[in-house]
Amino acid sequence: MTASRTTPVTERCDHCGDPIDTTTWHPAVIERDGDRRLFTFCERECQERWRRR
Ligand SMILES: [Zn+2]
Repeated sequence: MTASRTTPVTERCDHCGDPIDTTTWHPAVIERDGDRRLFTFCERECQERWRRR
């Protein structure tokens, strides 16, 4: 039996592409435009900039 290593899920900011530490709080938006998609951002500023596109 091989021990399966738990790989940390590294999210990336949907605005600037920076890696996000998922163990700490980060802004997230769920868009329900047809498909349900989760957008994650490294900080609130990125979320607001993304929203304004
Ligand atoms: Zn960002």
